[in-house]
Amino acid sequence: MADLLKGLESIFPSGRLLCDPAYLAAFESDGLTAFRTKPLAVVIPETEEEVIAAVAWCHQNQVPFVARGSGTSLSGGSLPVANGIVIALNRLNRILKLDPHERIAVVQPGVVNQHVTNAAAPHGLYYAPDPSSQSICTIGGNVAFNSGGAHCLKYGMTSNHVIGCKAVLATGEVVEMGGPSLESVGPDFTGLFCGSEGLFGVALEVTLRLLPKPEKFHTVLVGYRSLQAAGDAVSAVIDSGLLPGALEIMDALSIEAAEAAVACGYPKGAAAVLIVELEGPRERLEHEIKCLEAVLVKTDAFAQRVAEDDAERLSIWRGRKSAFSAVGRLSPDFLVQDGVVPRKRLGEALVRIEQLAERSGMRIANVFHAGDGNLHPLIMFDGKEEGALHRAEQVAGELSRICIEMGGSITGEHGVGMEKRDFMPEMYDSLSMEMMAQVRSAMDPKWIANPGKMFPGNEAPALSTVGLHPLEKAGVISRE
Ligand SMILES: Cc1cc2nc3c(=O)[nH]c(=O)nc-3n(C[C@H](O)[C@H](O)[C@H](O)COP(=O)(O)OP(=O)(O)OC[C@H]3O[C@@H](n4cnc5c(N)ncnc54)[C@H](O)[C@@H]3O)c2cc1C
Repeated sequence: MADLLKGLESIFPSGRLLCDPAYLAAFESDGLTAFRTKPLAVVIPETEEEVIAAVAWCHQNQVPFVARGSGTSLSGGSLPVANGIVIALNRLNRILKLDPHERIAVVQPGVVNQHVTNAAAPHGLYYAPDPSSQSICTIGGNVAFNSGGAHCLKYGMTSNHVIGCKAVLATGEVVEMGGPSLESVGPDFTGLFCGSEGLFGVALEVTLRLLPKPEKFHTVLVGYRSLQAAGDAVSAVIDSGLLPGALEIMDALSIEAAEAAVACGYPKGAAAVLIVELEGPRERLEHEIKCLEAVLVKTDAFAQRVAEDDAERLSIWRGRKSAFSAVGRLSPDFLVQDGVVPRKRLGEALVRIEQLAERSGMRIANVFHAGDGNLHPLIMFDGKEEGALHRAEQVAGELSRICIEMGGSITGEHGVGMEKRDFMPEMYDSLSMEMMAQVRSAMDPKWIANPGKMFPGNEAPALSTVGLHPLEKAGVISRE
């Protein structure tokens, strides 16, 4: 192994090539802390050229690699591969260009999501996708997972805001997809790269769309005595024709956790709170506020608070954005699920989750992007108790199955990673799985980029044995 690593020594100085187990420990896990793997080494590039050289070295030596941003993945996406290397991208953190007239920013992959908005703010612009982890997660990780956030109901996911991407494919070849223009010719390769979970290669430069900051926000916090009532309120808001920027629900357990963590002052005794945020030009907003009031008054709300200023708006959001980490106060360990159900079936899904919690004896807190039907049940357990992790995983698996059965998806925004890979064949038929494998093989014929994620098992699945696939005939993919 030491001989093998010699090649990397010619690319990285010793301080940026970590092999000492004490240093590797910091990279063993990601946001899904129940799983750990020690990599062979971690490299810390400071330039694009170093990333390209590292990937080319991996390709030449058949060494698996995992690109890593801030390691906040909740699905084990940035979990290292044993005998592989981690390419840690946090030092590629420069905003290369910010053009307020074109409303674009070109950034390196290690730029933190929130920093894009901070840089754009003096120009009255912002970057719309807002994962709750936005103060630490990177644009590279957001692209790989096609991340979402509270405001994706109105603005869409990361892929709706990435218009170009330069990347090094797992073969070491550098490709440029899309560009600064909103119009491009041919297939949307940038869109294909978004959500590829690090299985195609490493994003080196990302071109982002910036939006004008909404003139005004109207943020309302509403308290309900039951989750069902909060769910019904979501349907009522959507049925009224309003399209809020965000529609979020938290249940009693997650309110308790957020209250303990950040004292957000949510209504006492609420079984659920709903956060509705309208935004836009002042005149349109005035009309929408009236419509919203007319809808909410007919729901079973027992408490309502409208944010009077920015500070109050942020305090409402602080509770929601802290919810995941706050649940750590209620339980030493938890798994966050990320399933999606059709919005109309949200109430039914919540009842099934409640029944599952009772049946399994596990506490499940619920925080969700209600407007998109994207659930985030947090399954609490104590990893020190024998078998507890296994039981939590089984509950998580049942939740994934409920979402599939209800016509939804196993992931809304956290990605498949390694956590949900075994459910892919339950959601997709074998032909679809094979197509996905072929696309991956086209970018990474040796399956060295983030192996063991998204596809069940650690090995490249065998391609269909029934004759040659047209892509094989064309030499685009091969079975090597
Ligand atoms: C408290 C908390 C709240 C969260 N809230 C949300 C939320 O609201 N919405 C949401 O969508 N997610 C959320 N997440 C999940 C997570 O923050 C996102 O998935 C985020 O995009 C990961 O970014 P990262 O920089 O940490 O990436 P990492 O975890 O380091 O990596 C994630 C994936 O991206 C790949 N990757 C990283 N950089 C690159 C690159 N340059 N090129 C190619 N592949 C790359 C990795 O290989 C891995 O597969 C939350 C996580 C936490 C801990």
